[in-house]
Amino acid sequence: MSARKWSPDSWRSKPVKQVPEYPDAAVLAATEEKLSKYPPLVFAGEARNLTASLAKVAEGRAFLLQGGDCAESFAEFSANNIRDTFRVLLQMAVVLTFGASLPVVKVGRLAGQFAKPRSSDVEKRGDVELPSYRGDIINGMDFDAANRIPDPTRQLQAYSQAAATLNLLRAFASGGYADLHRVHGWNLGFVAKSPEAERWQDVAARITETLDFMEACGITPERTPEMRTVDFYTSHEALLLGYEQAMTRVDSTSGEWVDTSAHMLWIGDRTRQLDGAHVEFLRGVLNPIGLKCGPTSDPDELIKLIDILNPQNKPGRLTLIARMGHEKVQKHLPALVRKVAQEGRSVIWSCDPMHGNTLTSASGFKTRPFDRILSEVRQFFEVHLAEGTHAGGIHLELTGQDVTECMGGAQAIGDDDLSSRYHTHCDPRLNASQALELSFLIAEMLKL
Ligand code: PEP
Ligand code: MN
Repeated sequence: MSARKWSPDSWRSKPVKQVPEYPDAAVLAATEEKLSKYPPLVFAGEARNLTASLAKVAEGRAFLLQGGDCAESFAEFSANNIRDTFRVLLQMAVVLTFGASLPVVKVGRLAGQFAKPRSSDVEKRGDVELPSYRGDIINGMDFDAANRIPDPTRQLQAYSQAAATLNLLRAFASGGYADLHRVHGWNLGFVAKSPEAERWQDVAARITETLDFMEACGITPERTPEMRTVDFYTSHEALLLGYEQAMTRVDSTSGEWVDTSAHMLWIGDRTRQLDGAHVEFLRGVLNPIGLKCGPTSDPDELIKLIDILNPQNKPGRLTLIARMGHEKVQKHLPALVRKVAQEGRSVIWSCDPMHGNTLTSASGFKTRPFDRILSEVRQFFEVHLAEGTHAGGIHLELTGQDVTECMGGAQAIGDDDLSSRYHTHCDPRLNASQALELSFLIAEMLKL
């Protein structure tokens, strides 16, 4: 199959899951046509640089930190939200780099993370049944019939939001905000009052001391530009294939195809069928790609998927994102890791401890207990230690906001607290304090 000719629309002849049925094909076609002429959001060279950085992760010489909202939304779009997500990822990266002495590749789940796969096509409340919410790029979250009809023109708004988000991220990454000399300034907001504050202040103080020492030795900031800027990349699930196709362009330097909607794209657990449209689409773009692996992933099938998605076995091209659930890691992950290693395939193994650990709390909120998230991460590291492979990364749903969506952590968020600041548009996210707490724990594991 993989030898078959690929084109940006070859996915259209394959079975496709999780895409909406738009009521008006003409409006959809006109929207996709318009998008295909819009400027690219990212560039082929940037995607290649990310692949090169990820190759170091694949070789065990770096760690991948990927995180952000489950679903970005039009309503929550604000400069402050973007800054706060960027800041918490930066803080986590510092904790990991400093704690484990490993370079950290930073990839946001943002600037395009809008389309959501759903377990059910419909949502029922009382006697009323409506199509499920599929993310702001497709329909609206409010439980109202008109709002749930897929509207293609939402794709234009998603594009604009992604473009503005990327613009701000680029400015943050290279315009001074991310300068390590400002490390103390990042500790603003509610984390300052959280249990993680002291540990963070300690890391920040040690970094400042180190920078002062370097400067005293004559290693001035001008000579270390890597201390003043960061490489920050974007990613999302490549679910809405019409949108992704419209954003896919020929790279003028290599003649290859690049999906310019984000640097990295991944295939979700529900759309990873060998002969399916999502696998077909992503096999043809040069971007680094991710593939979610769940409890139903089969080792032999995984090798077939790897051969389709990364036929040249190029390090950094493919990240396998394991999302087993805390009770299933030991049962399913070792066989997958072993098979991939035995067959000599170069991959990055990353841990998504969020999607297998979702439950409904007694008060009725969809939540994730922090101890289960931590347990999955620990077991992920244990499996890699036992198999002699590299625990290469972490994939998290998080926000810089002071939300109460995941239970537990040092803040001890209980079931009663969930209702106070529950803002997610889809799955429950770690708040900044919980995310920081987790990064301290991961830094410990990385040192082993
Ligand atoms: C997600 O990452 O938001 C998601 C839906 O994950 P998965 O495909 O692993 O269920
Ligand atoms: Mn999610």
